[in-house]
Amino acid sequence: MTSTPTEHPTVHDEASAALLQRARAVTPGGVNSPVRAFRAVGGTPRFIASAKGPWLTDVDGNRYVDLICSWGPMILGHAHPDVLAAVQQAATQGFSFGTPSENEVALAEEIVSRVAPLEQVRLVNSGTEATMSALRLARGATGRSTVVKFAGCYHGHVDPLLAAAGSGVATFALPDSAGVPASAAHETIVLPYNDVAAVEAAFAEHGDEIACVITEASPGNMGVVPPAPGFTSALRRITKEHGALLISDEVMTGFRCSAAGWYGLEGEPEGGAPDLFTFGKVMGGGFPAAAFGGRADLLANLAPDGPVYQAGTLSGNPVATAAGLATLRGCTAEVYDRIGVVAHAIADGASAALTAHGVPHTVQWAGSMFSVFFREGAVRNYEDAKAQDTAAFGRFFHSMLDQGVHLPPSSYEAWFVSASHDDAAVEHVLAALPAAAAAAAGS
Ligand SMILES: *Cc1c(COP(=O)(O)O)cnc(C)c1O
Repeated sequence: MTSTPTEHPTVHDEASAALLQRARAVTPGGVNSPVRAFRAVGGTPRFIASAKGPWLTDVDGNRYVDLICSWGPMILGHAHPDVLAAVQQAATQGFSFGTPSENEVALAEEIVSRVAPLEQVRLVNSGTEATMSALRLARGATGRSTVVKFAGCYHGHVDPLLAAAGSGVATFALPDSAGVPASAAHETIVLPYNDVAAVEAAFAEHGDEIACVITEASPGNMGVVPPAPGFTSALRRITKEHGALLISDEVMTGFRCSAAGWYGLEGEPEGGAPDLFTFGKVMGGGFPAAAFGGRADLLANLAPDGPVYQAGTLSGNPVATAAGLATLRGCTAEVYDRIGVVAHAIADGASAALTAHGVPHTVQWAGSMFSVFFREGAVRNYEDAKAQDTAAFGRFFHSMLDQGVHLPPSSYEAWFVSASHDDAAVEHVLAALPAAAAAAAGS
């Protein structure tokens, strides 16, 4: 798909367009992460100048209610006073030491105290690093190399985890990205999500080669597709039977779906907790901080105690950990309650407006995390998610944007809300929905 910069002229976007042109000269596609480029919806991505609470202000002076929230991290809203104070305080003490510091310990303690099966975590800088390192640890601990993942689950841009192509049982995937060597993809088995029989069959054939199954705790990167009842427990049972590890990727769901992430909502799978967890997004409070962790005996395989190497110049950065700590401490029961209220108000409003205009859609939930699929019927896996009317979503997206609501620019993404979304912000979203639904309907 190509972008069509002149298609949506109703809002002033001259300054964003000029910045995009400047950016394209020095940065591929003009963006530092592909989905920001608006390729799925067309038009000019808005360059944001500032953000406060639930509002974004772009370089042309347009204001938007933010339903991206940095793809999850801004759970308390932008520039929350407590987080800002923590960041300012930390920064006055220096930016990075390359030696241990107290904030790292406090953030690790906060994370470990929230998710019962965690005994230890190691801090890293991004969700990608967390899954990459968890994978290396699983391979190092088991002495095996094959990895099972599910189509439609995103675990960052880690070579063996970018493979998402191939369907059916135990298909050895082709790489989905140029630059991923076949050798990396060949050690990845991609299976359809929510399909226990496919997992059984893959393990029947390759069980003694499989180091781990990695899954999004509750997938949010193909839209929100929660595990069917019993699916997580089946993964736990099958991996245990074959001596493989289970990695629960909570980078998106962690500390968002509940104080203890998806684990806290769904509870312990039958047969025991996942062996490893990964976190990111909310736990960094908008700064680069992420983590992976699990049982202490497993984490003991990591350097300096064990043979699995893993490191980072900026890992546990004192400013990032201060932001993460302040954010997690700010995630009170009231915050989770408010997020639930806001999410339901917006989802109900969207569904009512789309229904009124006859636009086929489905809303799916993981706790208070939700997404709107532009298709009818339950979405259980990536194949279902792909059967959407993306053109209708594009019209809906641009109508919302023109009316001052910034949705994620793709129909495969969750809509993220924050506790700072007050009644005025929610009303602003609700008021925009009927015209957007009409646009989606093509009327
Ligand atoms: C966002 C995400 C990642 C990657 O995190 P980055 O910080 O973007 O590298 C990994 N797994 C899941 C489930 C995610 O949502």
